[in-house]
Amino acid sequence: MKCRFTATYCNGLERKVFRCENDAIEDGYCIFHHPDCREDSNKIIDNFKRYKFKKIIKEKLNKNEDLIFVGHNLPNFNFADILKDALITENTKNEENAENLEVNVKVFFDHCKFQNANFSNVVFKKEVSFRDAEFKEGIFVDTKFEKDVHFNYAKFDYACFIVAEFNRGADFHRAKLDKADFSASSFKKLPTFGEHYSK
Ligand SMILES: [Zn+2]
Repeated sequence: MKCRFTATYCNGLERKVFRCENDAIEDGYCIFHHPDCREDSNKIIDNFKRYKFKKIIKEKLNKNEDLIFVGHNLPNFNFADILKDALITENTKNEENAENLEVNVKVFFDHCKFQNANFSNVVFKKEVSFRDAEFKEGIFVDTKFEKDVHFNYAKFDYACFIVAEFNRGADFHRAKLDKADFSASSFKKLPTFGEHYSK
């Protein structure tokens, strides 16, 4: 049985419906959407999630498909680590990407729930979206956003964008950043913030 999680997200101006393709483990939800796996999970679940996630990313990158992970619960998440392994594939054209941690497809983490999430050193070559995502700690040190990035309605207890590069639009409209550090970050275009931004 497939996971019953569905949600809408935006791809550009298009509204899309996300349907989870993972197998359900309990109560009709997969390991990424089960509400019990939302907060601090145990080591075994964390390792299993990392293993599964790496496999999914690898398959998608091999097919050059967008990475769409709407509504996933990813408590302890290091994207660079996962990506490094996922990019090293039989497909040699990805070797250089693995070295530079470059992602050449669109990435959607809309409505995801992160606790300690680390996206440092990753180069997003295409649009990235974290709309309505929740972070306890979101670390984006030296992360490069080459195309538009959307953080609208995202919530951070702490957001760290030290030396991050925003080379296109940076949409923080109505994002809630309780504590944020944008030291030495650069913006090609002025970012947009809503009234909830506080530093
Ligand atoms: Zn699911």
